[in-house]
Amino acid sequence: MNKQDYIDGAESALLHTYNRFPLVIDHGDGVYLYDTDGKEYLDFAAGIAVQAFGYNNKEYNDALKAQIDKVMHTSNLYYNVPIMNAAKRVLNASQMNRVFFTNSGTEAIEGAIKAAKKYAYTRDGHAGHEIIAMNHSFHGRSIGALSVTGNKHYQEPFEPLLPGVKFADFNDLDSVKALINDKTCAIIFETVQGEGGIYPATEAFIKGVRALCDEHDILLILDEIQCGMGRTGEMFAWQHYGVKPDIMTSAKALGCGVPVGAFLMTERVAEKSLAPGDHGTTYGGNPFVGAAVDKVLEMMERDHITEHVKKVAPYLEKKLDELVAKYDFLTERRGMGLMQGVVCEKPVGQIAAKALEAGLIVITAGSNVLRFVPPLIIEEKDVDEMISRLESIL
Ligand SMILES: *Cc1c(COP(=O)(O)O)cnc(C)c1O
Repeated sequence: MNKQDYIDGAESALLHTYNRFPLVIDHGDGVYLYDTDGKEYLDFAAGIAVQAFGYNNKEYNDALKAQIDKVMHTSNLYYNVPIMNAAKRVLNASQMNRVFFTNSGTEAIEGAIKAAKKYAYTRDGHAGHEIIAMNHSFHGRSIGALSVTGNKHYQEPFEPLLPGVKFADFNDLDSVKALINDKTCAIIFETVQGEGGIYPATEAFIKGVRALCDEHDILLILDEIQCGMGRTGEMFAWQHYGVKPDIMTSAKALGCGVPVGAFLMTERVAEKSLAPGDHGTTYGGNPFVGAAVDKVLEMMERDHITEHVKKVAPYLEKKLDELVAKYDFLTERRGMGLMQGVVCEKPVGQIAAKALEAGLIVITAGSNVLRFVPPLIIEEKDVDEMISRLESIL
């Protein structure tokens, strides 16, 4: 079969929910992917901020293979050792006290919403609470997560969604303040907005929301699904700001390719929140994903991945700033660490498609942002090569 046969085969069988790039990936190695024709691509998307260690990492692969040969799945009716190890590591990295493992990011958001609602229900003795979310946010595609995703285009066909969700403007504290009432149980946002166009929270905003939450006993939920796991130069992006969420979510690079997410909370929340019978999952936190999360966090800590990101990210920023200065249709760079966006006045989808021809994988965010979320292991020479491949099509 040739490439077009593979594409036709997929298009005739898969539900058409994606307009895919005409690229059939065969395998990966380090920061490179290879298609079925053997063509090489430098990958600055990392499977959407997932492959923190790139591809075909031997230590990671060996850990997974070893667990496959022991046991992959047991259900949550019993204990297993890998997930206990993974839980200890993720709590240590996040300064949270309790974790629930899910199978995806959107499920982590579902859990976070339920946890916040249950907390307020226990405290007040009744249900009917509200959540404040942000315009241009993205939290996932299941109904609860979609309900807090501030994007009308994604929401409209599926309405009515979860009632009691109100939208404020990200980085506008007054807009949040105006929506708070005695029913508000949680405020949710991404510490760095991803799909919405790579907008980091300002320090004034995140600290201001934290203070509002403290004042009104509202829970602060930070979505770290994309910006967490070392990507911004701290294990979790909120650790840059000197504030702490009450509940947070993780996924994407948490498993580095194994489908796993998590929602985590402080003990104060956990005491009044989900109890036996309130929540569950068949697969979530099985020994196989436990082995993956345990290994990912072990490698990140041992290899000081956040230090590496802090070292290489300024170089990426500098090189992207030079591009913005050079091309008048590139108007701004923004981001944190290895989560960067460049605002572009030409159709970004076409640029991403053209880049593939030049052997470069980049993705877009929002309607006009080129997004750079490479593997965290990139070196300066990979940045140079990315810039040169990108410039060949700009
Ligand atoms: C990707 C993403 C999600 C959804 O995660 P899935 O695993 O695709 O369900 C939620 N929030 C943020 C910030 C994301 O980037």
